[in-house]
Amino acid sequence: MTNRARGLLLTLLTVAAGPRDLSARGAALTRYEYAEPHMGTRFRIVFYAPDKTAADQAARAAFERIEALNHIMSDYLSTSELERLSRASGGGPVKVSEDLFRVLAAAQEIARRSSGAFDITVGPVVLLWRRARRQHELPDHESLAKALEKVGYLNLVLDPNARTARLLKPGMQLDLGAVGKGYADDEALKVLARFGIRRALVAGGGDIAVADPPPGRKWWRIAIEPLDSSTNAAARFVLLRRAAISTSGDSEQHAEIAGVRYSHVVDPRTGLALTGRRSVTVVARRGTLSDGLATAASVLGPEKGLKLIKNTPGAGVFYAEERSSGVSTYEYRFPPFVLVQPSGPIGLRTTSRKRSAARTP
Ligand code: ADP
Ligand code: MG
Repeated sequence: MTNRARGLLLTLLTVAAGPRDLSARGAALTRYEYAEPHMGTRFRIVFYAPDKTAADQAARAAFERIEALNHIMSDYLSTSELERLSRASGGGPVKVSEDLFRVLAAAQEIARRSSGAFDITVGPVVLLWRRARRQHELPDHESLAKALEKVGYLNLVLDPNARTARLLKPGMQLDLGAVGKGYADDEALKVLARFGIRRALVAGGGDIAVADPPPGRKWWRIAIEPLDSSTNAAARFVLLRRAAISTSGDSEQHAEIAGVRYSHVVDPRTGLALTGRRSVTVVARRGTLSDGLATAASVLGPEKGLKLIKNTPGAGVFYAEERSSGVSTYEYRFPPFVLVQPSGPIGLRTTSRKRSAARTP
C-alpha cells in the first residue's frame, strides 16, 4: 500500500504531562503515545489508560492487528491475500477472509456511489504511474490504453453469502491504497476497546480515527494542514469524537514531469493522474469511509465531490483547490473547528508533519 503521512497533523492536546482523570473503576488515567511504521507510513496511537503495563499490552495488540491487516491488504507484498486474489483474476470466485471481504465491499460501495471515480481495480494504471513518477517520464499511450482495459469496478464481483470475490478479466490488479489505512485505524480502535481503552486515537499517516475524547475534554483536536504549508495561513483545528478524518492530496506524493505536477491519485475513467493542487479533507463516521471518500472527492472535483459527501450520512468535507486566482475552498457540514493564528495561545502545540519513518516498498 502506498501511503504517506500527510495532510493532517495531530495536535498535542495538553500541556506537559496531560490531564489525569479517573477511569470507571476509579484509577487515574494517563496519556500514552506510541508510533510504529506500518503500511508504508507511520501509525500513531494515542490513548488514556490506568497504567503502563496495560497500555503497552493494548498498544502491542493494536499494532499487531494493523500488521496482520497489511498482510491481507498490501499490494506491495506478493504473499498478501490481496495479491493472491489479483493473481486469480480471470478465473472463478475466490473465498476471501472476513477482513478482505469487508474492505472490498466498502470499496465497491464507494465506487458505485462515485460512478467509478473511486475504483480499487485501478491497479494496472497505478503501477504505470508509479513507474512514471520514478522515471520522470509519462506512461505511453498504448500502455495506458492496455492497462485501462483491465480497470473497472464492475469486473469485481462479490458474493456476500459465499464470501467470495471474482475478478472477471485476466490481468486485473486490485489496489487498496486509498481505503486500507482507514480500515486499519477502525480495527485498531476496536482492539483498544477490547482492552477497555475508549479514550483513543489511531492515525495511519493522514488518516485518523478517534473514539471517545481525552479525560475532561469534549473532543480530540486535529489540525488540517493548509494547502500551501509555506504560507502563514491560520491553522484550522477540527474537533472530533467517535469519528474519522482523512485527507487526500498530493503534498507528499507527486511527480513533476515536463513542468506538470502529477498526483498519485488517478482518474480510473481516463487513466490519467490528477494534475493541479488540491487537498480534500473528509470527516465520516468510520476511517474506511473517510479515507475512501477523500480520494473519491479528489477525483470528482469540488462540485460532484461535495454532492457525494452531502449524500453520505454523517460526512463532511473541506475542499481546497489551487486556481490561477489563488486557493479556492469549499466546505460542507464540516464539524466544529477553531482557527488559530500562528502565534496561538500558549500551551497549544502542534507536531510537525510526520513523514513516514520507514517505507515498505
Ligand atoms: P494516501 O494513500 O496518500 O493516503 P489516498 O487515500 O488518496 O492517499 O490513496 C491514494 C492511493 O490509492 C494511490 O497511491 C493508489 O494506490 C490508489 N488510488 C489512486 N487513484 C485511485 C482511485 N481513483 N480510486 C481508488 N484508489 C486509487
Ligand atoms: Mg483515501
